[in-house]
Amino acid sequence: MSATSMRTNMCGELRTAHIGQTVSVCGWVASRREHGTQLAFVDLRDHTGVVQCVVDNDVDVRSEFVLRVTGVVRARLEGTVNANLPTGEIELGECQVEVLRNAEPPPFPIDSRADKVEETTRLQFRYLDIRRERMQRNLRVRAKVNSAIRRAMEAQDFVEVETPMLVPSTPEGAREFLVPSRKEPGSFYALPQSPQLFKQLLMVAGMDRYYQIARCLRDEDLRADRQYEFMQLDAEMSFVSQDDVLAAIGKAVTAAAEAVTGEIIPTIEQMTWRDAMNRFGVDKPDLRFGMELTELTDVFGTTEFKAFAGAACIKGINASGKADEMGRNKLDALTDKAKQMGAKGLVWLKVAADGSLESPVAKFLSADEQAEVSRRLDAKPGDLILIVADSWDTTCDVLGQLRNDLGRPPVWQGPYRYVWVIEFPLFVGLDKETGKPKPGHHPFCMPHPDDLAMFDTDPMAVRAMAYDLVLNGWELGSGSIRIHKSELQRKVFTALGISDEDAEKKFGFFLRPFEYGAPPHGGFAFGIDRLVAILAGEENIREVIAFPKTQSGSDPMTNSPTPADPKQLTELGIRTLPPKV
Ligand code: ASP
Repeated sequence: MSATSMRTNMCGELRTAHIGQTVSVCGWVASRREHGTQLAFVDLRDHTGVVQCVVDNDVDVRSEFVLRVTGVVRARLEGTVNANLPTGEIELGECQVEVLRNAEPPPFPIDSRADKVEETTRLQFRYLDIRRERMQRNLRVRAKVNSAIRRAMEAQDFVEVETPMLVPSTPEGAREFLVPSRKEPGSFYALPQSPQLFKQLLMVAGMDRYYQIARCLRDEDLRADRQYEFMQLDAEMSFVSQDDVLAAIGKAVTAAAEAVTGEIIPTIEQMTWRDAMNRFGVDKPDLRFGMELTELTDVFGTTEFKAFAGAACIKGINASGKADEMGRNKLDALTDKAKQMGAKGLVWLKVAADGSLESPVAKFLSADEQAEVSRRLDAKPGDLILIVADSWDTTCDVLGQLRNDLGRPPVWQGPYRYVWVIEFPLFVGLDKETGKPKPGHHPFCMPHPDDLAMFDTDPMAVRAMAYDLVLNGWELGSGSIRIHKSELQRKVFTALGISDEDAEKKFGFFLRPFEYGAPPHGGFAFGIDRLVAILAGEENIREVIAFPKTQSGSDPMTNSPTPADPKQLTELGIRTLPPKV
């Protein structure tokens, strides 16, 4: 397949079976070593690997020159076989070398040594960075994932539909990139945070099952798992239950994972948001390790210990075997962190060799309380027990964070543990300005049918038909069953403090079409960059994106962003303010 008019074979595929054949290979010079006065060994590299070519010493080739080499495959002499190299048993002899392009010396070695080079330099010379094995592998893993996703979606009758990049502002919560309109100075398009609006309208339009590997843009601070632009498998389906959506998306994710790792994932387990919070303290639980949050509130029902008496929620974790390594400074740091997160404090107890609990507060705990804590947390000598007593939210938050800090392996490390977190709350917290609840996901998520009666009495307890997919503690994506009836939509808007008039102004263009017959529908979107990073064994999504932005949002290769040409600005009706100092 890869033979062309210039080459017969790829460098990395030659083996002893090819001995005696005359072949042509093309690629870049990975290294050159003198061999006596007459000859030189040139390692020629393409994306499949390197092959050793024995060339005349007077051929002027240096690192990264682009060559076409025609030679005869022959066995290497005994003693020169390189067992670490797939092509290490053979070499090309009688070589004719054609220099297709000379090259400047590269700013860093085109191999694993460049892993240590500063990221800005790697990004400035990204085209050289991508020449390396690691980046070649990552981008090919990515292509495999995309292709497996497409096959899985098509096998399930999803239709790929492209949606626009110049869109109105949508109410999904993230800060948007704006694009000025030349025809209407002072007016702006937004770049899509996601195709949410359009995919729902495609359901009204009778497309039944839509998908797209969609570019989404959000102007938010960049992190290891976040870029301004990222790719999502975006999907929407009509006439479905939540389980239908989870099954369809689950097939795409597992097909992608299987294409890369070969591992077959039978079904992805489900866990309610409340269980996730109770057991792991976070809404993206990492199921690869234990240290689960253990309920202790009832143990201290009649306690004398002031810090625990009357607390709404008391939970503990057992950082097994960590007592010795956690000296006073580290424990103080954990306590500070707990306080920064809003807890009144953190109680730590070390399990001594005789099983007793050692801690400055141990004397305040009765023998029964100590025994029950040890029993519930399965305490063994050398363990470190951490306890928080606070509101349910704070207790879960703090212990969830400490559990991750103390036990979480790198995100890419196997085993891969997928979990659907379902039944997210419909509303989260109160808006500081309006005092009204804020939407958990977006205002169009279907409330759980069993909770409708609680709408007026206890809105914060209403669950949504909203779900996230989590892999090794990373949120891959979210989705929901959507509201398709106006009465229910109005009820949610009312709870959010959005008047009919406001709703019409803000969301009319989106909701009015529903009056023409919106089917029941729901969907999901998951981040391909994150999935690929984990499957490729990378901690940072920038490693699986061909041309990412740096953490500060710039591109050292193209120097963007750049100031605009004043003429262009005038045409757009834009005057810029001097930069802030
Ligand atoms: N548009 C949503 C997101 O990007 C996903 C969905 O609800 O389908 O998170």
